[in-house]
Amino acid sequence: MPFYEYQVVEGHEGCDTCRHSFEKWQKMKDDALTACPDCGAPVHRLLFAQSISTPKTPAELKNLGFTKLVKREEGVYENLTRTGNESKYMVRDKPETMPDIKSKITD
Ligand SMILES: [Zn+2]
Repeated sequence: MPFYEYQVVEGHEGCDTCRHSFEKWQKMKDDALTACPDCGAPVHRLLFAQSISTPKTPAELKNLGFTKLVKREEGVYENLTRTGNESKYMVRDKPETMPDIKSKITD
């Protein structure tokens, strides 16, 4: 379910809620809000935010081209999203173990 962000229409007083913009979860088919639920001032939708789908698993991060490093011990990080020839562990001061971030950015 996506959420929408609303803010009071410029030129209207509004209240603490709508002056700073507030978020409201709505079903796709629901109509957009036109008035602040707290004070009734006219509001408009600021942006359409994707449903919250922050990638959490290494596989999801990898698919999105992120590199996730988890500290295993002092100076040693496990690269949970390693691809290709990347080293499973990144060791500080060992450049050859660094994730190949550049290639991911240009992909
Ligand atoms: Zn308000």
